[in-house]
Amino acid sequence: MSKKFWEKLPQGSVVLEAGSSAKFKTGGWRAMRPKWIEENCIQCMFCWMYCPDMSVRVNAEGKREDFNYEYCKGCGICALECPGKKGVKAIVMEEEGK
Ligand code: SF4
Ligand code: SF4
Repeated sequence: MSKKFWEKLPQGSVVLEAGSSAKFKTGGWRAMRPKWIEENCIQCMFCWMYCPDMSVRVNAEGKREDFNYEYCKGCGICALECPGKKGVKAIVMEEEGK
């Protein structure tokens, strides 16, 4: 039996392999880059919770570490949500490549 036209189209938007998103290094999309200022960080982990790309690293002790720039797209949500220490932000956004 011959296939219908739509059955001959190549598959798209189908994830055929679990965990394949790790292969897409989305950091190359970034125009703005978050910078972590450790001395202003109170370890509240808001940045970790809000980041849509899991780009805030956390170590084995549960402490925040620097960003994973291979995946960070530079959306700035972490900087917006960061309360910082006494109102002084622990994340600032800078132009990429400066
Ligand atoms: S800029 Fe966006 S993608 Fe990058 S670490 Fe912050 S919240 Fe995540
Ligand atoms: S949101 Fe700001 S203060 Fe909280 S852990 Fe992240 S960088 Fe530190």
